[in-house]
Amino acid sequence: MILVHGGAGDVPTASRDAHEAGCLEAVRAGGAALAEGCSAVEAACTAIEVLEDLPQYNAGKGCALNVDGRISLDVAIMDGVTMEAGGLACLGAFEHPIRIAQKLLSEKEVLLVGSPAEEWARHHGFSMVPEARLITDAVRKIWREVVENGGSGNFAGGTVGAVCRDAEGNMAAGTSTGGTMGKPAGRVGDSPLVGAGTYADETCAISATGEGESFIRACFAGQVAEALRDGMDPHGALYSQLERVRERYQGVGGAILLTPGGPPIALRTTETMSWAWWSPEGEGSGI
Ligand code: ASP
Repeated sequence: MILVHGGAGDVPTASRDAHEAGCLEAVRAGGAALAEGCSAVEAACTAIEVLEDLPQYNAGKGCALNVDGRISLDVAIMDGVTMEAGGLACLGAFEHPIRIAQKLLSEKEVLLVGSPAEEWARHHGFSMVPEARLITDAVRKIWREVVENGGSGNFAGGTVGAVCRDAEGNMAAGTSTGGTMGKPAGRVGDSPLVGAGTYADETCAISATGEGESFIRACFAGQVAEALRDGMDPHGALYSQLERVRERYQGVGGAILLTPGGPPIALRTTETMSWAWWSPEGEGSGI
């Protein structure tokens, strides 16, 4: 089974169909990979790569920009079997940052940031593209509104994530984002941080989206896993941790969760969060 999200936020009504449709496209690609016998990690990366290519999401093409109008991408993938994780933060214009994170899985290091991270990616065969190739007119317009109104730290909506359980029951989770619109240079959100925005082990796979600072302070994904280990039911665990983020850390957002035998779960405390799931038995989507 594979489940993806296309970011918590408040997507305008006119764009909601496109957000839902992109999620469905992504799970079908991830599902095809699973059907061919690919691992949970590979299927999650396949789905996220599709979402990174679609301009309606805040990842890869269409990503949010920092206060200087520059691209600064955050990404992570975690393998719930080996417990290997690869995260990169403050990356410049790479089309598919999730594939760089996947490459990092086999290294000892879990998190690389900034220009050394870019250098590492180049060294491992990934090329940067001109920023203009990833910046859409729609994003430039929102960026102007945010930055010219003196705002920073608005979370943009449209972060993408995937959680997956393969034929052997192994799980993986990944998240990819441009972060918050108008963020300060150097700001890192929850997405590339294991236990905050992304986490997988033998009990669960989780990808979060929303106001990253709150999710970091709440140790969000790790707390969901802990609640599951304490015997809480998956829906209750996710719901109570999202409520905790809202009440104790003043942050809204959403998350997707898979457990060893359970159904796909997608919950949010925002107006919208697009999602879709696929399994050999069927598929579903919503926003
Ligand atoms: N959580 C992301 C961040 O804070 C933003 C989002 O999910 O929209 O970077």
